[in-house]
Amino acid sequence: MSKPSIDLLPTSALINEDGSPLLIAGPCSAESEEQVLQTAHLIKNNVPGVTVYRAGVWKPRTRPNSFEGVGIPALKWLKRVKQETGLKVAVEVANTQHVYESLKAGIDILWIGARTTVNPFTVQEIADALRGVDIPVLVKNPVNPDLQLWLGAIERLNQAGIRQLGGIHRGFSTFDNAPYRNQPKWNSAIEFKRLVPELPLICDPSHIAGRRDLLQPIAQKAMDLAMDGLMIETHIDPSVALSDASQQVTPADLHKLLSSIRFTKEDADGEDHHLLEDMRRNIDQVDKELIEVLARRTRLSRTIGQYKKDHNMTILQVKRWDQMLEDILNKGINEGLDEKFVRAIFQTIHTNSINIQTEIVNGKVEA
Ligand code: PEP
Ligand code: MN
Repeated sequence: MSKPSIDLLPTSALINEDGSPLLIAGPCSAESEEQVLQTAHLIKNNVPGVTVYRAGVWKPRTRPNSFEGVGIPALKWLKRVKQETGLKVAVEVANTQHVYESLKAGIDILWIGARTTVNPFTVQEIADALRGVDIPVLVKNPVNPDLQLWLGAIERLNQAGIRQLGGIHRGFSTFDNAPYRNQPKWNSAIEFKRLVPELPLICDPSHIAGRRDLLQPIAQKAMDLAMDGLMIETHIDPSVALSDASQQVTPADLHKLLSSIRFTKEDADGEDHHLLEDMRRNIDQVDKELIEVLARRTRLSRTIGQYKKDHNMTILQVKRWDQMLEDILNKGINEGLDEKFVRAIFQTIHTNSINIQTEIVNGKVEA
């Protein structure tokens, strides 16, 4: 996938100057003035490090007749949060009217929700409505696992002149999400960082997990993968929350959760990492050897394919594959490798070998 070129401001409200992760907390939805203000004050006073307060004002809901947000009146409550706590305030915008109202109300940060990122028409309309406005925007990944769509939405905003941008990894809806509400496809997050390393990438463990007990390990994993911040839904009393009740935490629990996370840095403070460099050289060497071994194996597959063709034999020999997999798994386990890991690798290798032999048997290539 080609790397998009994104033009960003040298400093951004979405990146903490000291390199610490950007911490965003607040309720799924703004429900009442008391709920919004009380939650904000508790976060401000008891959870160090949180600098941005989130609250959904317009709620995209899967089914109708559920709470769809209080709309415009909530913007005034957020203005009070800003004045009374000094926290920056962030809301989700899903159409141009949301954009105009949020800008009018002095909202500091906008985010685009997963159900909006999937639609390039809507994203373009939002981008056009933001032309000439210098406001930071976070873009959640689309509901479906499509990295192009995610990057495309960011590019549309950037081309409209938005130069403080970031992504939010909130997991993807796939056929089998268990145990999550939305699968955290960590490889997509890693690929996102590889393609646009200059963009901060925030993790939203709340919408990945869908339940409180899974938040901690997800947040820790995000930090271990060098992600740049966390957005965690926090409600003064999650048991009565009007949306996403089972995934929200109290400000006190948020504090506990954040205190339990090991925050690390991708590049630790100016130290000389000789040892790490040596280990990396070793691992690069092993990777080269792996490729050479795979090339040798591939050449053998071709020869075997030719033999099977000459002797009119089927390519797949089930008994042989079954025995081979069992031997390999035993060997792997004896070497201290994870069984699932060995199985996945050998299934891939075997599938590739069958494909190569098929081409030879069908006469497409010479052995
Ligand atoms: C939300 O942040 O409350 C929300 C609706 O999230 P998502 O767009 O990730 O579903
Ligand atoms: Mn929510």
